Amino acid sequence: MKKPVIQAPAADMLKLLEELAAFSAPGPGVTRLLYTPEWSGAQRFLQEQMAGLGLEVHTDSVGNVFGRLNGSQHSGSVILTGSHIDTVVNGGKYDGAYGVAAAVTALHYLAETFGPPLRTLEVAAFCEEEGSRFPLTFWGSGNVTGLYDGSAADSIADPEGVTLMEAMNACGLGAGGSRTASEESSGRGADSARREDIGMYIELHIEQGILLEQSAAQIGVVQAIAGQRRFTVKVTGTANHAGTTPMGLRRDALAGTAEMLCALERSAAEAGAPLVATAGRLEVIPGTPNVIPGEVQFTLDIRHSEAARLESFCAALAAAFREIAARRGLTLELVPTLATAPAPMNQALCGALEQICLEQGRSFRRMVSGAGHDAQLFAPECPAAMIFVPSRAGISHSPEEYSSPEELAAGLNVLTALLYKLAYEAS
Ligand SMILES: [Zn+2]
Repeated sequence: MKKPVIQAPAADMLKLLEELAAFSAPGPGVTRLLYTPEWSGAQRFLQEQMAGLGLEVHTDSVGNVFGRLNGSQHSGSVILTGSHIDTVVNGGKYDGAYGVAAAVTALHYLAETFGPPLRTLEVAAFCEEEGSRFPLTFWGSGNVTGLYDGSAADSIADPEGVTLMEAMNACGLGAGGSRTASEESSGRGADSARREDIGMYIELHIEQGILLEQSAAQIGVVQAIAGQRRFTVKVTGTANHAGTTPMGLRRDALAGTAEMLCALERSAAEAGAPLVATAGRLEVIPGTPNVIPGEVQFTLDIRHSEAARLESFCAALAAAFREIAARRGLTLELVPTLATAPAPMNQALCGALEQICLEQGRSFRRMVSGAGHDAQLFAPECPAAMIFVPSRAGISHSPEEYSSPEELAAGLNVLTALLYKLAYEAS
């Protein structure tokens, strides 16, 4: 069968991206934090846009927005595509919003060009992924996939002391929140945003790294999203006078920490890509020029796409830290604070993406995502895939975040072709 030529209207997607970027708190770049007026405005705007393009719009109890293109074969599960609509503080236009704008454009184009699909397609604009207002991430996709059941909403608060539930209620969401008539009639999300009908999840996103730019590839076919381990490390020595304590009699917590951080960097380099390890925050106590540091606390963030390698690296690192502490007469506490499993993407979908890149004449590379994405929540539930496009200079979470219109259009056309293959071609 001859393949149809996919030429999705990139101009529509770019316009939608610009319009979304206007929903921002004042300041550089885009700031659209969960359940703020900017966020509510963007979600309402998206609902209007989706409805205007003929998609069946519904929302859920946490504020995720969905636009549905019903398939003629009603029995099958939904093919979901999208990303998140929140940003970090002073973030860019593309992180998250690109995947949403492209998905809306793709579904509209497919419906206009090819009519109704066989399988139902749905756009998701997840309410939150970044964790920039409340100290939790993936609130949107996590409620859909069952990571959260809403019980966290009363106990988690933003820096102003507003709980997640209070913020939701202020937007008309949460228990007793308003939903659309179509959602009420379908019975979705009456109390919970959990969905059991998702058969596949496809996410298009900017890379947020420099690998595509360095390898001059247009498309990244993501093989896995790295798993993460985070720890808080406390090193305790003895605080004492900086002028009167001879060097040989010191138990300097900061000098010990410095040796640990050198070991961290060296062992991560030896392990090689895609392992990355970072000590991002460090607190020295008492932190005074004339006192030997008695205590240091620091954080560790370690990522790898393979669970066994991540585990063995962390175990070896802990052993190395213990050896350094013991030799220097320091005590060491290493407390795990986060553990997420690596999320492999579906190999058949990766193969389909590579085939599409070949057919469209686009250069591509296989890669691991070091950053977390909504797709990692879906990967244990259903076949999931991620498509990356280049980020200029690898910059993201910044007003400087940029991908060219041509790069964004390439990703849109790969996404659209995959959705066509999955939803229109009889399997
Ligand atoms: Zn993102």
